[in-house]
Formats: sequence, C-alpha cells, structure tokens
Amino acid sequence: MHSGFAQPRCGCLQIRETVPLLWVFLHGQTQKVGSPLENLRKLRSSVHLAKKMGTELGRGALLFRPLSIAARQLRQQAPIGRPRVKVFYTDQYVLPLPPTHTFPMAKYRLLRQAVDDSGLLADDELVTPPSASDEELERAHARDYVERVSQNRLTDAEQLKVGFPWSEHLVERSRRSSGATIWATHAALEDGCSINLAGGTHHAFRDRGEGYCLFNDSVVAARAIQASGRVRRVVVLDCDVHQGNGTASICEFDPTIYTFSIHGAKNYPLKKERSDLDIELPDRTEDQAYLDALERGLRHAIESSRAELAIYLAGADPYVDDRLGRMAVSMAGLAERDRMVFDACHRAGLPFVITMAGGYARRVEDTVAIHWQTVRRALRQYARGSRLSQESREKSR
Ligand SMILES: [Zn+2]
Repeated sequence: MHSGFAQPRCGCLQIRETVPLLWVFLHGQTQKVGSPLENLRKLRSSVHLAKKMGTELGRGALLFRPLSIAARQLRQQAPIGRPRVKVFYTDQYVLPLPPTHTFPMAKYRLLRQAVDDSGLLADDELVTPPSASDEELERAHARDYVERVSQNRLTDAEQLKVGFPWSEHLVERSRRSSGATIWATHAALEDGCSINLAGGTHHAFRDRGEGYCLFNDSVVAARAIQASGRVRRVVVLDCDVHQGNGTASICEFDPTIYTFSIHGAKNYPLKKERSDLDIELPDRTEDQAYLDALERGLRHAIESSRAELAIYLAGADPYVDDRLGRMAVSMAGLAERDRMVFDACHRAGLPFVITMAGGYARRVEDTVAIHWQTVRRALRQYARGSRLSQESREKSR
C-alpha cells in the first residue's frame, strides 16, 4: 500500500474541502505537500484502492464517491503541460464469433476496463480513434485487397486463413485498430509514448490476411506518419511469439522501416519471411535466455535502424501458459521485457507506440494481466515520456 498522499496546493483550491476528509479517512493525518502532479497520482491510486476496498468490503459507496469527485476535480485542474500518455481503444467493435472460437475477444474489453479502473488516465487520454482511410490502408496493402475486404469479396479460403468470418464489424474493427496505431504514432511524437489497446496485427500481408490479421496496423501507421513528413525512419520491435511475417514481407524492400522480430523458431508461421533482424528461439525458452537474446536484438535493431520512432508489439504469447506460445517465459520475465524495451527506446531518444498483439493464455485473465502490466508500466512512467519527447524534439532539430 502507498504511504498516503499530500495536500494539493497550487491550482487545486476547489478540492480543499473534499480532500482533507479523505486523508483522515484513509490515513488518519495529513502529510507534506507534494507537487500537483504527485498529488494527482497518489489520489488516483487511492481511488483505485477505494474501489477495490469497496468491492471487497461492501462499503465502497462511502469511500469512493468523495474520492472520485476529488479525483475528477484534480484532473480538471491538472497543471498545464502535464505529461501524459494517450491510450486508444476499439473494443466496442466486437466480432460476432461463435462461443467455441479460440480467439479471446474478451481480452480487449477487460484490458480497457483495467485501464479505466486504474484512475491513471484523464478522460481525454482514453480515446476511440477514427478509422484508417482507404488511402492510408493502401500505403501498406494492394488496392484490390482493401476493396475486396471492404466489400465482402474475400474467397472462403482467404477467410479461412484470416480465421474470422467476414462481417461489417470485422472490417470496421480492423480499420479502427489501424487508425489507433496511426493516431498513436502522432501522440507518441508529442508525449514520448502512446498505446493502442489492440493492434499488432503483424500476419497481414500486402494482398492477403492470415492468423487473425486483416490489415497490418504497424506498416499502415509507419507509412502514415512518414507521409505526414514528421518522421523518416521507423523501427518495428516485434516481441509477439510468432514471427511478424506480414510486416517483414511488406517492408522487405523498404529501407525506411526496419523490422525486428524475436519469435519461436518452430512456431507459426512455419514458412518464415525475412525481417531486417530475426531472432529465432527454441521451444520452451525460459526468462534468462529470452531476455539475453532480446537485449542483443534491441541494441542491434535500434542502432541499425537509425529510426526516429519505434512501434513495439508487446505480445502476451511468449508466456509459459499460453496455448499457442510454445515458450516458457514467466509473467515477471515479460515485465522485464517491457522494461528493457522502454529503456532501450528511452536511451536512444526514441518515442514509441505500444500495441498489444497476440495472447492466448489458458486463462484469459493471465493474458489481460500481461497486457495490463505493459500498459501500467507505460502509464506510470509517463513523466519520463514527457522528457523523452523533449529530448527527441531537440534531437530532430
Ligand atoms: Zn502471436
């Protein structure tokens, strides 16, 4: 449990009546005054705690209502220029899948709920993105393919390879998810880091989809931000357990997008494509071997790419209890992976976008917990994101 939070001072006058009551309630005393940002963080985590207590003890209403009012007031009065991380979500576009389908559609909703409940975000930081346009999609995909997907003209065999039956929801969801990564690239350039709570659909090729992937959001977004003129070179750091074969294939002859994939040698896809850097790991690879290989790969990829923006695919499927992973990385190992990727980007002055990619744990809660620990780490480091953004801007001058 945290040690308590301090009395907000500048810019927070209106909550002076509410907050002292909460201190007494939670901590029995007031504590030293911190910065408004620090107060905001501590209050948000107290809201989260109160919600949990409310659930467990059945007395949430008493605690939670004044806390949440105070948190909202604090949010509205947060200091100008407060660093932030924008989070894009699309889980309201649910695919109508049969109950026996192996794809864990619920993970997206559960993950967004975890983000929402955490109190770590202001209202305008959790955003539904616009759809990717035809023009944006066609920078990564063949026009004919985009049209056939949009108009329900994929063959049965093509749909079978994608793994989802065609529906308008499928098209809209895929367009939105690419839109989320596009918008996240812009947000990352402003704030240092941003998050798409879906995306990472790296098995989509220029003219076909497979493995639950219809459009390749990483390449669509990389080319959209390049077309905007804000960035010339992008590095894709693909840590999903399956090779990013679609990404590698689309970018094979594109020197401006560097593709790095660390994945299971014997896992899907059986026929691998050639990324700029591939690291293949044997079945049942454990934490230390995984992280050692990742460290080498990150260093090499970031140095070689000379990129100005990174897109990180934080797949949950290298996890030991993943049904499709064949690896043996623990949840703590995956947390360490996130830390290494964030730190590597930070050291290089690279703004980065995080996308979720795959995750098929036996218990969907485990997949959500792995994605959540990635997101939470990013949200808790958002002050760093601000500095990173500044450093990047100075670097690009
Ligand atoms: Zn995967």
